[in-house]
Amino acid sequence: MSQRMQQGQPMIIMGDDAQRVKDKDAQEYNISAARGVAEAVRSTLGPKGMDKMLVDSMGDVTITNDGVTILQTMDIDNPTAEMIVEVAETQEDEAGDGTTSAVAIAGELLKNAEELLEQDIHPTAVIKGFNLASEYAREQVDDIATAVDPDDTETLKNVAETSMTGKGAELEKDVLADLVVRAIQDVTVEAEDGSHVVDLQNLNIETRTGRSAGESRLLSGAVVDKDPVHDDMPTDFEEANVLLLNEAIEVEEADVDTSVNVDSPDQLQKFLDQEEKQLREKVDAIVESGADVVFCQKGIDDLAQHYLAKEGILAIRRTKKSDMKFLKNVLDTTIVTDIDSLSADDVAVGSVTRDAEEELFYVEGENPHGATLLLYGSTEHVVDELERGINDAIDVVATTVSDGRTLPGGGAIEVELASRLRDYADSVSGREQLAVEAFADSLELIPRVLAENAGLDSIDLLVDLRAAHESGDEHAGLNVFTGEVEDTFEAGVVETAHAKEQAVASAAEAANLVLKIDDIIAAGDLSTSGDGDEGGAGGMGGMGGMGGMGGMGGAM
Ligand code: ADP
Ligand code: MG
Repeated sequence: MSQRMQQGQPMIIMGDDAQRVKDKDAQEYNISAARGVAEAVRSTLGPKGMDKMLVDSMGDVTITNDGVTILQTMDIDNPTAEMIVEVAETQEDEAGDGTTSAVAIAGELLKNAEELLEQDIHPTAVIKGFNLASEYAREQVDDIATAVDPDDTETLKNVAETSMTGKGAELEKDVLADLVVRAIQDVTVEAEDGSHVVDLQNLNIETRTGRSAGESRLLSGAVVDKDPVHDDMPTDFEEANVLLLNEAIEVEEADVDTSVNVDSPDQLQKFLDQEEKQLREKVDAIVESGADVVFCQKGIDDLAQHYLAKEGILAIRRTKKSDMKFLKNVLDTTIVTDIDSLSADDVAVGSVTRDAEEELFYVEGENPHGATLLLYGSTEHVVDELERGINDAIDVVATTVSDGRTLPGGGAIEVELASRLRDYADSVSGREQLAVEAFADSLELIPRVLAENAGLDSIDLLVDLRAAHESGDEHAGLNVFTGEVEDTFEAGVVETAHAKEQAVASAAEAANLVLKIDDIIAAGDLSTSGDGDEGGAGGMGGMGGMGGMGGMGGAM
C-alpha cells in the first residue's frame, strides 16, 4: 500500500507488505472471522452435541465437547477470532460453564449485526442497542431465577447433571453428580452475614485409570499416590505426627561438590563417616520433632531411608508440590524448609492409612478439613475428559451455592429473555430498537441449536416455545431427549443464573468490540474473505490457517 499525505488526515506510514482494510470491508472481514469460530463450536452444544477430536502439532489427541478446550487447542491466529476465544476463556474463569453458549451467542449477535449494517444502520447504534439489551436481559435473569439453598441436594444435583450432559461425565452422571454436590457441601461454610462461601482450595481431584467412572469416590482429607521409600516402614497410623518437609534428606550439595583429596584409606573413611554423620543428624532432628510420618517434597538418601525405617518412621519422597500444598490445608500445618531448625510445633496430628491395592495413602487431619474426589476412568483419554466435565460441574455447583440462584435450561431462559426483550424494545427509540430486537433473536439461537443438534425441527419447536412463553410459561424449554416442550426446571434441567448472566454479558461485549473496529492495519498479509459464504465458514479462510490443526478436517 502506498504512502500518501491527505490534507487534514493523519499520515499513516506502512511497510510495503502492509495491508489496510477500512469501514464496511473491515467489519465484514472481522465478523466473518469471528463467526467462523462460533460455527466451529456450535455443533457441540447441548446433551446431543457432538465431540471434537483435536490433533495438535505434536500429534497429541484430545477428544472433547468442552467449548473452551476446543478453542484453546485450535491455536487460532487471527486477531478477531482470538477475541472470541477470549470470550470463552472469560466465561470459563468466571462461571466454569456456558462457554459454548457464550461463543455461539456472540457469533449470532455479529451475524444479526451484519444485517443491520447492510441496512445502513450505523455501528454505534447497534452497539448502543446491544448494550441496552444486555443490561436489560441480566436484570430479567434475576427476576426469572429461582432461589436455591446449599442443602437443597436435589436441585444442586440437577445443576451438576445439567452441566455434565453431553460430556464424558454423562454415563455415570447420577453417581458423579452426587459426589460433586457432597464435595461442595463438604467445603462450604456459612459466613457471618449468612452468605455461603465455597472454599475450593479445600477440594482436590485425584484421577486414576483402570476402573469405571462409577467407582469414583469422595474421601475426606487428602490422597497421596506414592509408595514408602523403604519396605520396612510402617504404613498405617490411626494418630500420627505428620511432618511436611520441603528439603532433601541428603548430604548437602556444597559438600558433594567440594573436591576432596583422598590420599589414604583412612582419609576416605573419615570422609564417609562425615557424610554418614550428617545424614544421621538430619534423621535425629526428625526423630526429635516427634514425627511418625514425613512427606518430603525432595529426595531422601538411601542411608537416611534406612535410618528412618529403623526408627519406625514412614517416609515418602518426591511428593508432588500440589499434594504438599493440599496436605498443608488438610492438616492445617506448615511446610518446613529447614531440618536443622525443626521443632515439635512443626508436626501436625492426623491419620495416615495405606490402601495397598490402590497403592495410595489416605491422610486426614484432626479436624475434618478438606476433601478429595477420587475419579476413575478406564483410560487416560476418558479420565481426562471426565476430569474436565467434573471440574465444570464443581465450578457450576460452587457458583450456584454462593450465588443462590438457578434457572430453567434447555433454551427456556433464552426464549423467556427474548420475549421480554421484544416487549422492552418497544420502549427503545430509534435504530437502537432494531438492535435490541436483533439481540432477542440472537438469544434464541440456543434453543434452535439444541434442537438442530438433536436432529429435531428447530423452526417448529421455536414456534411452540414462543407460544408457551407468550401464554406465561416462563419455564418452557426443550427436552432434547423427547423432543417435547416442557417445564425444564421441573424436569431437572437446571442452570446457574450467574453463568447465564456472564454468558450474555461477555457475548455482548465481544460482539461490540468487533463492531467498533472500522479500520484494520496489518503489518503482514491479510487474506480477506469477501466471498460472503453463508455458513460463516468464509471466516475460516481469513484465519491464516489453524495452527497445527491440519488433521482436523475430517474430525469436525
Ligand atoms: P456450554 O459450554 O454452553 O455449557 P453445553 O454443551 O454444556 O454448552 O450445553 C449447554 C446447554 O445444554 C444449555 O443450554 C443447557 O440448558 C442445555 N441442556 C443440558 N441438558 C439438557 C437436557 N437434558 N435437555 C435440554 N437441554 C439441555
Ligand atoms: Mg455446559
